Amino acid sequence: MRKIIIGNWKMNGDKRLIDEFAPLLSTSSYDCVMCPPFTLIDVARSNFPASVFVGAQDCSMFDNGAHTGEISCKQIFDVGGTHVIIGHNERRANNGDSDEVVAQKVKCAIRNKLIPIVCIGESKEEYDCGKTIEIVKKQISSLLQGEGIDVAKFFIAYEPIWAIGTGRTPTVSEVDEIHGHIYKFCGIYPVYGGSITYENHKDFLNLNSVTGLLIGGTSLNSKDFSKILSCLD
Ligand code: PEP
Repeated sequence: MRKIIIGNWKMNGDKRLIDEFAPLLSTSSYDCVMCPPFTLIDVARSNFPASVFVGAQDCSMFDNGAHTGEISCKQIFDVGGTHVIIGHNERRANNGDSDEVVAQKVKCAIRNKLIPIVCIGESKEEYDCGKTIEIVKKQISSLLQGEGIDVAKFFIAYEPIWAIGTGRTPTVSEVDEIHGHIYKFCGIYPVYGGSITYENHKDFLNLNSVTGLLIGGTSLNSKDFSKILSCLD
């Protein structure tokens, strides 16, 4: 199975960035999912090569209705979105996405034909206290509770909170060990995310326990991101 490279533009980018990326995404040794802000999903789908999947960075936990400002999974699907990042730490920390809300959003996404990319990971304090395994186990068990959750239908992204946008990463062997535990808990190896750059990406991607990479900051750099996709040295 091909590994997957997921780009998360966060609240960055505009139509010009789509134009800049479009010609650079046609050669890829990996499956690629680009997740721009909602407003750019449609234009990304129209301009990116068909081989590139386009995804959203969040979704509503409701199918439709009186939820002003929310975007539904059906609406994401309608404009060509195939994947959706759920439970990114920036949403857990700033928008009230608890483990329960994350589980509801995952069910809603699967119900509406989207592939969820569910983010889990520990804080710096939890890492320092050696609680990483306990935290990811709790996040996964809350995810797997209830009906309609089939791990074969989504990706898990292990993103230590302290590694997101900080330039710091766990060591390669720490990631390998944690991914091994995640496999034991749910039967799938996760994607790794947190301060991936062109320079360090191969160290993590080469691990058998790494299904792919979730890339934030570096996914806004068209040159580095396309070099990662095309395996150029
Ligand atoms: C992210 O936003 O999911 C992320 C991993 O960001 P960065 O690559 O910038 O650390």
